[in-house]
Amino acid sequence: SYVLVTGATGFIGAHVVDNLLAKGLKVRGSTRSINKGEEMKAARPQYADKLDFVVVEDFTKIGVFDSAMEGIDAVIHVASPFFYNTTNNEEELILPAINGVKSILTASAKPGTNVKRIVLTSSFASILDVNSNPTPDFTYTAQHWNPLTYEEAAAPTATSVIAYRASKKYAELAAWDFIKTEKPLFDLVTLCPPMVFGPVVHPVANIASLNESNAGLWSVAAGADPLPGARVPAWIDARDLAEAHVQALLRPEAGGKRFLPAAFDPFSYEYAADIIKGEFEWARGVVTENYVSGTKPSFPYGVDGQTVADELGVNYRSFKETVVDFVGQIKDTLA
Ligand code: NDP
Repeated sequence: SYVLVTGATGFIGAHVVDNLLAKGLKVRGSTRSINKGEEMKAARPQYADKLDFVVVEDFTKIGVFDSAMEGIDAVIHVASPFFYNTTNNEEELILPAINGVKSILTASAKPGTNVKRIVLTSSFASILDVNSNPTPDFTYTAQHWNPLTYEEAAAPTATSVIAYRASKKYAELAAWDFIKTEKPLFDLVTLCPPMVFGPVVHPVANIASLNESNAGLWSVAAGADPLPGARVPAWIDARDLAEAHVQALLRPEAGGKRFLPAAFDPFSYEYAADIIKGEFEWARGVVTENYVSGTKPSFPYGVDGQTVADELGVNYRSFKETVVDFVGQIKDTLA
């Protein structure tokens, strides 16, 4: 019996794969690239008999998972398009996100399959209301939903950031709707993480192919000027997020719930710049001086990371630890 991890050769998916393997579970990863799958397998010789990969085509086609389900007991659906340099938001972000969810749920519900739970990587993007300007006494929880409409996000004038936020919301809604209308034999757990950073354990050929969120953090170490602006002050380490996914799979009482995994300390790229200069000799003179240093970020509103700590038993890393581990790794391996 296997856990199917989609997006297994991506940043978060590969951490989920490693967490499952470390717990003794057998993993089938799905990827669009057999080369990346083989590279990941070759890097984990100790798990040769516990890890395999299947190639699934692009999610723009429905039905791509139908042949991947044999022997699968549970699914962690991580894969979804996450990039901002689009030419057609609806075709490249919104529809693939939704179709990916529909494909995996439909394949998991087919007669003869044995899937008992699906854990879905949604996003804080499906929670956040960017126009609400909440006050410090307001706390975002897993009960909140981003109010964007499909039409607003799919409009040709919408930015890719808006389209990405809608892609995550409408993909997650498609999953909850499927449960309601189809009443499959499996249950659903969704996770809505904010920005995710951390060392990489998936194949990354060069700095230019770093995933979107880590690319922003690395740009600070590489001397970006001005520094990027943080869209939200909330974040989580990819290793902690992987643990949240696996606990969401293993704990029976998590079934049917939506979670917001978020570290307790806020982040900013200014804070990252301070950490990088403080820890790495080589970064002094590279990281820009064009920002106000020495101020720790703060949350303008609350973000409930406590429920995941309590109900999924996740111990969050500090932003400093994550930055040091990630920047040190990239400097040693890719830069
Ligand atoms: P990556 O870009 O590293 O991973 C994305 C994964 O999705 C890849 O494995 C990719 O497959 C797969 N994928 C993307 N588009 C398609 C498509 N059209 N058809 C099939 N597969 C596709 O990003 P992350 O690991 O950061 O993102 C993983 C998930 O986490 C996404 O659902 C994202 O929305 C979510 N998330 C990420 C956050 C972050 O800050 N990083 C924050 C909140 C949520 P392949 O490897 O074959 O290219």
